[in-house]
Amino acid sequence: MEVLRVMDIAAPEGGESMENVRLDAQIPTTSAAPPKVQPAMPEVDALLQWQPTSARGPKGTAAWILRAAELGFLDTNQATAALQDFQASRPVHTREAHAGNEAAQRKAHPGRYDHVTRNPAGGYDVDLQDSPVLEMIVAVATKRIAAWRNAGGTGPRPKVLHLGDFVRTDFWFMKRDSPHLHGIGMDLYPQGKAIAPSDAIDLLRDLPPGRLEVFLDSPNALHIDRRGPHTFGLGIPANYIASEFVMGGAPAYRNGNQERAEREAGDDHGKTLKATAISTADGQFFRATASWDGTGWKWTNWQPSGGDIVAYILDAGLRNAIAEYKGRS
Ligand SMILES: [Zn+2]
Repeated sequence: MEVLRVMDIAAPEGGESMENVRLDAQIPTTSAAPPKVQPAMPEVDALLQWQPTSARGPKGTAAWILRAAELGFLDTNQATAALQDFQASRPVHTREAHAGNEAAQRKAHPGRYDHVTRNPAGGYDVDLQDSPVLEMIVAVATKRIAAWRNAGGTGPRPKVLHLGDFVRTDFWFMKRDSPHLHGIGMDLYPQGKAIAPSDAIDLLRDLPPGRLEVFLDSPNALHIDRRGPHTFGLGIPANYIASEFVMGGAPAYRNGNQERAEREAGDDHGKTLKATAISTADGQFFRATASWDGTGWKWTNWQPSGGDIVAYILDAGLRNAIAEYKGRS
């Protein structure tokens, strides 16, 4: 039995074809059961046909996301107010506490915070003109909602994405600009529980191609952003790679890879040992070496180094998903 697909039928002529489909379905057939017809969902179909060409404004990506949340497909959580501000072309109000290092940061990075104003009532107002990350959210949500619609669209509407923080000043963010400061980052909570390889695989499959950085904000949250030409950073939960490579904790940050190197050296004290550690927050690699000082192995501090985290990921499905994403980006 063939299931009619509304999305296939509707394009490119437009909305009229829905009526034809319903009429056809009412024609009695002699033998086979009539084809299943999807219920009319004009609001959902209008959302799926809406292709924003701007970020702000009533037809932009922020408005699209708020509408999708209204229809039950997205949880926008603490991003809601920020999306409403941005959609209305107002400075985005953040609810952060005033940061003690604000003055120092402004002085150290002239220009970086020109679009940020301290709000006397608390928090900051961030004046953004654009927000490229919202295009990614719209693309992923559209794909998932359309898949549900094409599969029959029955039952409760699925929450296809759970958004977290959108805009923050992050005055504490010392190493580089916070992506949340510029509207290029969004935090995602795939399930409201610890992230599994399948969440990352689904996300990579549904993301439009392009530069992408993903890192782990917490065991439950993936941060995604658009940054840098053709970068692909990846933060992963610790159990995605063999535990020996996970960077240990302070003060020595010693890990299992160092212990293995020592074990394998045995009584051979003449060689130099090498070990690798990976920061699961951002996929950064570190290396250290050790030589025997007469009583024990003396390790150098970990030094940042290059490396491809993909080769270290245990899950073959995730390795393939990353390779596929990079291939089309
Ligand atoms: Zn984030």
